[in-house]
Amino acid sequence: MTKEAYMTEAEEHLFHVYNRFPVVFDHGEGMYLYDTDGKKYLDFGSGIGVMAFGYGNKEYNDALKSQVDKLLHTSNLYYHKPLIDAAKALTRVSKLDCVFFTNSGAEAIEGAIKTAKKYAYLRDGFAGHEVIAMEHSFHGRTVGALSVTGTDHYREPFYPLMDGVKFAKYNDLKSVENLVNEKTCAVIMESVQGEGGIYPATKEFMEGVYKLCREKDIVFILDEIQCGMGRTGMMFAYEHYDVKPDILTCAKALGAGVPVGAFVVREEIADASLTPGDHGTTYGGNPLVCSAVAKSISMMEEMELPKHVEETASYLEEKLDELTKKYDFVLGHRGMGFMQGLILSVPVSEVVKKCLQNGLIVLSAGSDVLRMLPPLVASKDDIDGAMKVLDDVLSDF
Ligand SMILES: *Cc1c(COP(=O)(O)O)cnc(C)c1O
Repeated sequence: MTKEAYMTEAEEHLFHVYNRFPVVFDHGEGMYLYDTDGKKYLDFGSGIGVMAFGYGNKEYNDALKSQVDKLLHTSNLYYHKPLIDAAKALTRVSKLDCVFFTNSGAEAIEGAIKTAKKYAYLRDGFAGHEVIAMEHSFHGRTVGALSVTGTDHYREPFYPLMDGVKFAKYNDLKSVENLVNEKTCAVIMESVQGEGGIYPATKEFMEGVYKLCREKDIVFILDEIQCGMGRTGMMFAYEHYDVKPDILTCAKALGAGVPVGAFVVREEIADASLTPGDHGTTYGGNPLVCSAVAKSISMMEEMELPKHVEETASYLEEKLDELTKKYDFVLGHRGMGFMQGLILSVPVSEVVKKCLQNGLIVLSAGSDVLRMLPPLVASKDDIDGAMKVLDDVLSDF
């Protein structure tokens, strides 16, 4: 079948909620994806930060295949070994105490919000607490996650959303302090804002919000769904700062290709919040995804991927510096590790489209940031390959 025939057939049957790029992917290998015409694409998007090991990693695939044959699903009414392995690994690397597995990032956010609300409810003896979230944040598309997402055009058609959410300015500690009152139960923020344009938290802001939360017994929720799992050069981005979250949300690269998320909770909060009956999920943390989580974490550690990212990212940043110097419509770059944004004053969507035509997958973040989230295994050669295509594309603008 031709690409056009596939696309027509897809659009006939799918709810048109995405404007997809005109490409039909068939398979992947290492850093590359291949479409149904056999064309090859260097992937600097990794399925929006999911495919940490790239495509077709044998050790990872073998672990999942053997789990498929052994046991796929049991429900959360019972224990199983992959669940224990995954929970042990994730609590160890996050330095937090207990984990609830979900099927997505948005569901991890939902669970984090419910945990904070229940904690405050038990402490104060009444409900009706408030959450402080950040402008330009992104936490997902379910109604609760959307309620703490600070982008109006995602939210407006769906009002009324969850009550009691106030938005502070990211990297502006005063604006958070000004919103705190006796009803505040949680502050939720990304350690590095992703969709909002790749903004890392400043040290002063991150540590200031942490201190404020400690002082007022406010639950400090860090969303590391995009920036966690080694992407910034540490297993979790919060380790770059002198802070510790009460609740950490993970997804995307957590299972490196299977749909899994998690919220990980500090013991003091866990012991005084959700109890049996308060929360649940049919699929969440099933044997298949848990085998992926356990395998991914152990591979990330064995391959020392956070260290690899830290070392290799400075090379990527040098290359982005060169592009910034070369083109006056490239205004600069910002990011951390393998989470980088190139700020453009030409239409980013056009640049992304041209890159794709030229065999390079990159993403956007908002209307002016070209976003790169390469697999964590990307090498300097891969970076050279990507920069060559990007340079060629930019030279046409
Ligand atoms: C992608 C993302 C989410 C939502 O995750 P889904 O799996 O799409 O529900 C939440 N927070 C951040 C920071 C994200 O990047």
